[in-house]
Amino acid sequence: MKKATKAEIALIKSRFLVHYANAKTELVYKNLYELLVCVMLSAQCTDKRVNIVTPSLFARFPNIESLALATVDEIRELIKSISFFNAKAKNLHKMANQVMQDFNGEIPTTQIALKSLAGVGQKTANVVLIEFFEANYMAVDTHVFRTSHRLGLSYAKSAQETELELSKIFKDNLSTLHQAFVLFGRYTCKAVKPNCSDCFVFDLCKNKQNFKPR
Ligand code: SF4
Repeated sequence: MKKATKAEIALIKSRFLVHYANAKTELVYKNLYELLVCVMLSAQCTDKRVNIVTPSLFARFPNIESLALATVDEIRELIKSISFFNAKAKNLHKMANQVMQDFNGEIPTTQIALKSLAGVGQKTANVVLIEFFEANYMAVDTHVFRTSHRLGLSYAKSAQETELELSKIFKDNLSTLHQAFVLFGRYTCKAVKPNCSDCFVFDLCKNKQNFKPR
């Protein structure tokens, strides 16, 4: 499979930055606590579904203190329409208690500290930092993986390796590019039946295969 050349990478980057200049997450949140919970819930689930569930969750548990005092059953009941709700309820409960005990009730703001929390891996930590602080990180979900592979930006087999490659070739503006690739994959370069006739990087596309991380 052909990889994008340096010139093509530069073109893709500039077109994405113009096309998605104000790209933001579609998750609805008011503060860092809510964002972290939303991103944890959004793993293997749509933002739309998360946005349906979170108003009642945040009305009941408006901050990290109240979430730490909740029982797993109470959390589970409020998020039961979300995929993997059992594991997510346990992780939310554990995460809130860790924040209270290990971080004085403040949601940590570094990648390493976030990753020490239950249910928070590299992708979740990066998405939180990208969205809240516009940190120069890449996070690779199913959309970023598929679209970057179709454009020949990476042919890495895993999300983590793809994240490293994209960070290396793009270098800066990673937070905007992350959001841009998510929206591009969600609405244009869809897994099944991509809208190729409406694609602003049609001339740079290498392959329409449906790539998935291993
Ligand atoms: S031409 Fe089609 S498959 Fe290729 S990047 Fe554009 S939308 Fe995706």
